[in-house]
Amino acid sequence: RFHQIKDKEITKEQHLGRGTRTNIYAGWLKIHGSLEDDDNESNNNLCNKKGIRVVLKILDQSHKDIALAFFETASLMSQVSHCHLVFVHGVSVKGSENIMVEEFVEFGPLDVFLHREKGHVTPQWKFTVAKQLASALCYLETKRLVHGNVCGKNILVVRNGLEEGSSPFVKLSDPGISLSALSRGERVERIPWIAPECIADGARIGSAADQWSFGATLLEICNNGDLPISGSTLPEKERFYETQSRLAVPSSQELASFISMCLTYDPAGRPSFRTILRELTEIQIKNPDISSECESLPD
Ligand code: ATP
Ligand code: MG
Repeated sequence: RFHQIKDKEITKEQHLGRGTRTNIYAGWLKIHGSLEDDDNESNNNLCNKKGIRVVLKILDQSHKDIALAFFETASLMSQVSHCHLVFVHGVSVKGSENIMVEEFVEFGPLDVFLHREKGHVTPQWKFTVAKQLASALCYLETKRLVHGNVCGKNILVVRNGLEEGSSPFVKLSDPGISLSALSRGERVERIPWIAPECIADGARIGSAADQWSFGATLLEICNNGDLPISGSTLPEKERFYETQSRLAVPSSQELASFISMCLTYDPAGRPSFRTILRELTEIQIKNPDISSECESLPD
């Protein structure tokens, strides 16, 4: 259900960071054909003689269930195709090492990007990114697929859109190991992005889970990569959901009520991505200067 990549086709380079039970490296995937024996240096930083630039997600040594969940994600990502979903080339199994080979995205994760560039991104920029994310999730919704790990860290910036007249382009990354295979602690750690109904053991996870996560991510985007509660302790996080607390929303009435709808504790009360996409467009048209509102979050 996914492409098997041979060990000798990949080259591992610098370590980029750690994920949920993974280590991520930059690397290259050899491609067959003309580029390999091309003498004149076609020096493109994403594609050259070494192959195509990729990230290698190496799964920690783990129990069979975790490896299976990891393969399932690779398989899910191989079955979908959307311009705002990251491309998964396949999986390489090298001895006991399981490696997901994924498209390398130049400007990295959105949360880090926003922290760094907060002075330069406009409200329009944020809206464009939100709509691209919603379009990817709308696509998954129509296929009745759930992502399960939507957050700023898992949105990758392909084009920064910071120059005059250009616009950003983002892709939603793979969700990694599915929620049901993670420990309760790992799920609690994901508060406030993870939907409340996903905390319990053996929870059934539906599309509405992504709708909550989208709301939290939109808030994170409005707030330049910061999200209240995300840095709290696990007991504080648990308490936050147990008491059905609400995250602070932007002062713009329309945007606030829209985000609040996504962040409804009852999964059935959240809007579908079709609705989300329509509402986002409407809010954007009605508030060409949504900016100031989007940036002034109450504390
Ligand atoms: P999780 O399942 O929790 O998302 P993960 O294995 O996907 O875990 P991340 O924490 O999402 O790992 O990613 C770790 C780091 O790797 C990111 O902060 C980013 O710097 C880098 N990274 C991940 N994917 C890509 C990509 N496609 N292109 C470039 N950099 C990436
Ligand atoms: Mg990730």
